[in-house]
Amino acid sequence: MKKIDRSKPILVTGGTGYLASWIIKLLLEEGLTVHTTVRSIGDEQKYQHLQNIQHRAHGRLKFFEADLLIDGSFDDAVRDCELIIHTASPFQLTGIKNPDKELIQPALQGVRNLFFSAGETNTVKRIVLTSSIVAMVGDTIEIKDLPETRINEASWNTSSSPDHQPYPYSKTIAEQEAWRLTEKLNSFDLVVINPGLILGPSLSKRVDSTSISLMIQLCSGKFKQGVPKGAQAIVDVRDIAKAHIQAGFIQEASGRHLTAAHLKDFLDIAQVIRTGHPNYPLPTKFVPKWLFKLVAPLFGYSRKFVSRNVGYDFTFDNSYAKDDLKLEFLPFEQTINDHFNQLVNDKLIPDKT
Ligand code: NAP
Repeated sequence: MKKIDRSKPILVTGGTGYLASWIIKLLLEEGLTVHTTVRSIGDEQKYQHLQNIQHRAHGRLKFFEADLLIDGSFDDAVRDCELIIHTASPFQLTGIKNPDKELIQPALQGVRNLFFSAGETNTVKRIVLTSSIVAMVGDTIEIKDLPETRINEASWNTSSSPDHQPYPYSKTIAEQEAWRLTEKLNSFDLVVINPGLILGPSLSKRVDSTSISLMIQLCSGKFKQGVPKGAQAIVDVRDIAKAHIQAGFIQEASGRHLTAAHLKDFLDIAQVIRTGHPNYPLPTKFVPKWLFKLVAPLFGYSRKFVSRNVGYDFTFDNSYAKDDLKLEFLPFEQTINDHFNQLVNDKLIPDKT
């Protein structure tokens, strides 16, 4: 529990990302100095939006090149920082050909490289790590075995593997490694954010981030015939950005934080959009499980995934996160409407309003 000096730079890894961009915006608007890492300084298109934000804000932003897979890559970026917010990690649920190369090694080596660089500085006091609710539970079928069928901070995903649900596996082992290294290096403390599915407006026009592509697919008719049954623990990107910042600056904050706000399914999302915008090819029903199982590979899901994840109810307990990080969540309708409007305004979905 060490106090963070707000005049020192804060490192946010993966600045080009959907979530990191919001964290950086909020920090710059508070007038703070931010270091951020991008994979290639030459690829300015990926971070132009951050430069625009910096011009309008009081804070200062400095870019560094770093790759999760390269030893020592974060050495320059961590210099002089007391607080690090580590968001960078590949987030991909489907279309994965080589899970080890595409997901597992970047997540795991990224934690190792960053934590070793941080441990060598003598300045870093705290790391806030973006983990996920999927590091708490793998297949939703397992939730019935949890006390009160509720996911909370005591839950750990024990069923994912490189062959089954590799993204949840990558998040689980990366978070476990982060806890192990924090204890071993004994020079900074660790606070972990475990978000549910993040939605809400994006600050960039990129469409390859999973949260963005999901919304685009939903509004573009991909699921017109129906969606698989099953709730999602949804949270607004602006709330999650704030959660990371509170986790950095609230001195007593500690441990893991299940940070999700609303238990909703894809028909609930479709209904919010349809209410204001009836002209989009949105789904109106659930696909029967047997049918989705049949066609699942066409959508990039395995039949085992469908068996163990479609149609199971669950609940989650966000009381610790709300209390420890002093959080309030935006209403579900606002998250969906703001996200939809941003996609229309940025011409990423057609304007049929
Ligand atoms: P995103 O937009 O895809 O951002 C991922 C970031 O990771 C990008 O900046 C990406 O850089 C960077 N990255 C990936 N591989 C890298 C590598 N080898 N070296 C350096 N940087 C690399 O996804 P996001 O939704 O913002 O996700 C941010 C974090 O939140 C991730 O840790 C994710 O697991 C976690 N999370 C997301 C959700 C959600 O619903 N979105 C839910 C729970 C947890 P490039 O731009 O160069 O690709």
